[in-house]
Parts: sequence; structure tokens; C-alpha cells
Amino acid sequence: MNRLIICALALALCVGDGVEAKPRKSVQKKNKGGQEQTQRRVPRAPLDMEDFINDLLGKMTLEEKLGQLNLPAGDDITTGQALNSNIGAMAAKGAIGGTFNIKGGAKIAELQKLAVEKTRLGIPLLIGMDVIHGYETVFPIPFALSCTWDLDAIERSARVAARECSAAGINWTFSPMVDIARDPRWGRMSEGAGEDPYLGSRIAVAMVRGYQRDLKGNDDILACVKHFALYGASEAGRDYNTVDMSRYRMYNDYFPPYKAAVDAGAATVMTSFNLVDGIPATANKWLVNDVLRKQWGFGGMVVTDYGSIGECAVHGLWKLPEASAKALKAGTDMDMCSFGFIGTLKQNLEEGKVTMADIDTAVRRVLEAKFKLGLFENPYKYNDVSLEKSRIYTPEHRAEARATAAKSFVLLKNEGKLLPLAKKGTVALIGPMANTAANMVGTWSVAADLKAPKTLKQGLEDALAGKGTLVYAKGSNLYEDPATESACTVFGRDMRDSRSEQELLDEALKVAEGADVIVAAVGEASESSGESSSRSSLTLPATQKRLLEALLATGKPVVMLNFSGRPTVMEWESRNLPAILNVWFGGSEAADAIAEVLFGDVNPSGKLTASMPWNEGQIPVYYNHLNTGRPKDENKPAYQKYRSNWLDAPNKPLYPFGYGLSYTDYSYTDFKLDSDKLSDSGKLTASVLVTNTGDRAGEEVVQFYIRDLEASMARPVKELKYFEKIALQPGESKRVNFTITPETLKFYDYDLNYVAEPGEFRVMVGPDSERLHSLPFRYN
Ligand code: BGC
Repeated sequence: MNRLIICALALALCVGDGVEAKPRKSVQKKNKGGQEQTQRRVPRAPLDMEDFINDLLGKMTLEEKLGQLNLPAGDDITTGQALNSNIGAMAAKGAIGGTFNIKGGAKIAELQKLAVEKTRLGIPLLIGMDVIHGYETVFPIPFALSCTWDLDAIERSARVAARECSAAGINWTFSPMVDIARDPRWGRMSEGAGEDPYLGSRIAVAMVRGYQRDLKGNDDILACVKHFALYGASEAGRDYNTVDMSRYRMYNDYFPPYKAAVDAGAATVMTSFNLVDGIPATANKWLVNDVLRKQWGFGGMVVTDYGSIGECAVHGLWKLPEASAKALKAGTDMDMCSFGFIGTLKQNLEEGKVTMADIDTAVRRVLEAKFKLGLFENPYKYNDVSLEKSRIYTPEHRAEARATAAKSFVLLKNEGKLLPLAKKGTVALIGPMANTAANMVGTWSVAADLKAPKTLKQGLEDALAGKGTLVYAKGSNLYEDPATESACTVFGRDMRDSRSEQELLDEALKVAEGADVIVAAVGEASESSGESSSRSSLTLPATQKRLLEALLATGKPVVMLNFSGRPTVMEWESRNLPAILNVWFGGSEAADAIAEVLFGDVNPSGKLTASMPWNEGQIPVYYNHLNTGRPKDENKPAYQKYRSNWLDAPNKPLYPFGYGLSYTDYSYTDFKLDSDKLSDSGKLTASVLVTNTGDRAGEEVVQFYIRDLEASMARPVKELKYFEKIALQPGESKRVNFTITPETLKFYDYDLNYVAEPGEFRVMVGPDSERLHSLPFRYN
């Protein structure tokens, strides 16, 4: 709603008659088949990008240039026709460089045609969308994807997303979101890869590769690394809140994934909403110009986040004209939804606050992005509407999504090997998440058909067909309070039952009576995580907890399936329930994937990529913390006076980073280092023998950590430096090697030099960040 109003107002204010928009000339000619063909006079892009863009820039009026820097949302034609829409009118006037979040290949083709055919220079549009975990075939939310620790699968998920959205005219995705997050109260933790900079960096690279490849094909799209920078450190996990941190922490903990994505060739970067050192990221010259462009050598295009130039004034800084000048000067090129560039840069130029060279630099980067996509050679590269049928929601893509979802679930507890369940007898499926299609896909599934996914109920029924019986009851609403529930189930995801909580509970207990086992599908709704979905309490809502208590009281075994877009607090559940499988939001194929894992067709292999807190008061709790001068002695669990610990909670999270069980067991033996000394030009190999000691095949994530014990700055108690996900048959062993070089030991020191310092180190290995074997070595 707000967005529409902002766009309409800004449109009325800024897009007047100033933009010269002569219709482009075109000639009609017959092709061999006799059909009419439109031949454009758009210059063919020569091979040399610089020459081509110099030439084009030389022909552009100021208005045409400012149009290229303007990126309004496409909301107003998502249900209408381009021709009669505001966005269509703007495209035909050359008043936009692109737009985003429009679904429908034909509509987009029409829009592209307006830009190409109706404007004087025929510059094609960038068409963006938040395709952050799939288009119509929805993959698990990014946080869940990270829990697969399967870089190939993650890259393939990005590839599928790119193939699908590009078939519908999208040439730019606002993904990957690589913000490190250590505070699960922040709903956007669902969109990233968790708390670790190393894993986050590897995943960032995989996603950029998956989206872009070499940008040659009509299924390769621009990636956009976001949100630069530090957005995940919003104070108290409240979205859009202030961020303030030392440069030491920025460089070592928060910057690495952005840098990795840039190094991997990401073509575009999005600035974040938050302050960095007291200045909004979008207008922060140090951040964009000095760090991103100069230090990291990023030559691509920088786009703002939604309306963030306009928000500078709200931060208490500058009105739109000044904020626009600052943003441009800072190195930001495209203005998403503030209409500051198109609306005020002319005035800024006249007043000498920006130069034509500043404007040209930004325009050049926008044009370069289009050039890299090949849009100047073929502006309709992404507009073959026939592809929508053949390339979207295909059986192959759905199979990939299903397999990936099954890898993303994390088995937190499995007492007495309750799981996997046998496909026989009567299974009672109870809970508010059991029979909802719209809530399977998770946040930011903007292109998904919310009715398409199977509900969990259907998934389990299909899995049991002919072998066992599934009985179902809802058991409770998500929240007892309808207003709270309605805030969490927006965008057509409503699932409220009008009966009272007591009626729902009574029905559930009756349904469960004859069952052999109860599967409780509980948690948060799809939109309880994602943007603007911060939570101060991460426990299960009271009505769902009551349901679990009542189900437990039946004396039947209860398996908890926790749907969540973030780590949640499950202290009571972990003490009382025999089995807990965290299923996050698994995407279009989540129901079948959950069934496969529940019934043991797939052995779970997901591991947490962020600590699951014991309670909210521990937050932020993350594995790679500093030691403090008075660390708790972890060998003594009780509270310790004058030590850094809690009176009323442990220091450790409930489940640590890297943790996740399997239906089989693994042993880690024969951990060794080939030397205990590393020289400047040398390398060390740490290796461990991992054996599947159980009776099922499985996949294990072998994790290597390092601790620097003698640095010039305090260093974390451990840092993930390498991992491998290996497949092992029952009884099979594999030796996993980790090569350590001085490069592995580097960090940013006080002066932000990236250095490896001589001294004592430890290398550790294990199945998670807690259960580790450790060996010492010395560097230099
Ligand atoms: C979000 C971005 C997103 C943009 C466009 C903003 O509100 O912060 O992540 O890409 O909207 O939809």
C-alpha cells in the first residue's frame, strides 16, 4: 500500500514533461514467410563495451541520463497492462532505467518494447525481481538452503531460479542476500546464510555463479548482492534499526560474504537501509566508494534499497535533493523508488552539487550492466514468451527443489531412534502448519502460486498410501489472538480457524486417540520471518505449546516438526519431546520432502548455520565469539561468580552452530597433522578419518575450525575454515583433508591490514562447532 502511494506521489512530482520522448523510428519489412517484421534502428552493440557506451553516452540528453538512474517498482502493472500503466508511460518516455517485481512474460515483453520502440535511443530496461529462493519452483528459504551445507545444490537452486525467471522476462535478481546475522529476532535471518562469514562467503559465491554464469545465455541473469552493508546487525534484531560496530568487526565478521560475492563477479550490489558509522549506507562514501569500489575493486552497478535515498531525511539527515547528491557522490548509481535522482539531480547539477561527470559515471555503470547482459545486442533476449511454458515449474526443477529441501531439514533430537517412522499403522498429523499450502514456501516467494504446493497433510497421505493411515486435526491456531495471527499471515496466507482453541484441542485429542504416533506440525507462519518480521519472543506461541503439552500427555510418541524462518527458542520442547525435526520453510516441494525424511526414504543431513539460543536473553549467541578476560570454565556447568556467564542460563546455545543429527552415526578418528610447524611458504595438512558406524547410508558435514592463540588482536575462540559434505555407506570410512597455508590464518588487524601473524594456533575438527578434536601447531 505504502509503496504504491510513494510511487504515485513521486511519479506525479518527478516525471513531468521534462523527458523528451520521440517515438523511435522503425521500418516494417516482410520476412521470407511474408509476415510483418519490425526492424529496429537500435545500434548493434559492438564488441567493445567502452566504445559502445562512450558513443551512447555522447548522444544522451540529461533527461535521458537521469531516466537510466531511475528504478521504480512495477506494482502498478502486476495486474494490468503495461501500455496503460504508470510504469509503461514512464518506460515510453525514457524515464526509467528498469523496474522490478512484475510477473508475466507478456507484460514484461510489452514493457520492454515500449522502452525499445518508443524512446529516442531505444535503451532496453533492466527487469528485476526478488527471486531469492526460486521463482515458481520455490526452493527452501535461503537460511534453510544454507543448512544443506551443499554448495553444489545451492548453486543449482540459483540456476533453476535464473532459468525460470528469465523465461518470464526477468534479467536481474535481488539476490543473494549475504548479511551475516547473529540475532534471530531479526526476521530477515531467513533470507541469509546464518552467522558464519566463511560459510556465508562460500554460499555467496555459489549463488552468484548459479545466477550469472557468464551472462551469455538467455537464462543467465544479473545477481545483486545485498544489503551492503551490515544490515544483519540491526540493534535488538528490530528491522531497519540502527547498526553501529567497529571496523575490526566489520572487516572480519560482516564484510567477507559481500567481498566474496564481488570477487566472484557479482554484477550489481544493493545498499542497505541502515546507518554505517552514523551515515545511511546508501549515501556513505566511505562504504560505497572507498571500501566497495576502491578497496575491493568493484566496477559494477550499485542500486539503493527501496526508497532509501528518501529515508535519509527520516534518519534526521538530508532532504531528498541533498540526499540524492550525497548518494550519487558516494558511488550509488541507481535509485530504487525514491525518485531522488530523476527528480533532483538536474537541480543539483545546476547548483554545482554534482557534476556531469558524476552523473555520467553512474549512467555508464547502468549501461554497462545492460551491455553485460547482452541487451544492446538483443533487447528481447529475455522476452521469448514461449519459454514460460517449457522452463517454469518443470518436473526437473521440482525434483531438484524436493531433493534440496530434504537436505535442508535439521534433526535436532531423536531419542530412542523414534525417527524414521515406519510406513504403517496410524499416524496422527496435528498442528496449525499441517494443512496449509500457502505457508509451505516461506517468505519472499513473490512469484509462487500459493495454492500450488502440497500441504503437509497431502504429502504424508501420499507417502502412506496403501500402507498406513493418516488422521488429521488442526489442534490450534497459530496464535490465540486473531490480530497477532493476522499480522503473521499476510499476502494470502491466512489459515485461521474460527473455532475456539479449546474446540480445536478437543478435536485433536480425539483424532489422536487411535494413533500409534503423533506428528505435531507447529511453528511460525511463512510471513513471521522475512522483511519487517522481527519477533521479541522466539518461543512457540502459548496456544501451540498447550497443544504440545496435551499431545505429550496422551503418552503417545510425539514428533515435533518445527516450521520456522529462523532459529527459535525450544528449550522446553527439547527437554520434553522425543524427536524434533526443524523443517524451516522448504518451498514448493516441502511436503513430499518432509515425508521422505520422516519415513526414512532420505536420511537427514542438514546442520545449523546459526546457533539455536537457549533463551532470548542470550542473544546474540554465536559460536565464533571472543573469549573475554574472564571466560566461564565450561567443564563446570554451574554458575561461576566473577566469570562471564549468566545467573539463570548457560552460556552455550541450546543447539550449536554446525549441529544436526542423522539416522546413522559417524565416528571421527585418527585426527592428525602432518607437521606441527607452518612456514611462510609452506602448508600443513590436517586430516581425519570419518566412519559411518550405523546401518544407513548418510551424508556428513565434516567441519574444520582454527583458533589463533597469539594474535595482535583478540581472535575468536574458533572459526570455521573448511568443511566437506561427504556421503558414506554403512561401515564406510573416508579420510578428509584440510590444507592450512598462511592464507588460511589471515585476518584484518587493527590497521585493517590482512595479515597472518606468527604464533600458536589450534586446528579442530568435528561434526559441529562443539564436539571437536583439537591439535596445536605453530606458524613461523
Ligand atoms: C528489501 C530488498 C528488496 C527490495 C525490492 C526492499 O524492501 O529490503 O531486499 O530487494 O525491497 O523488493
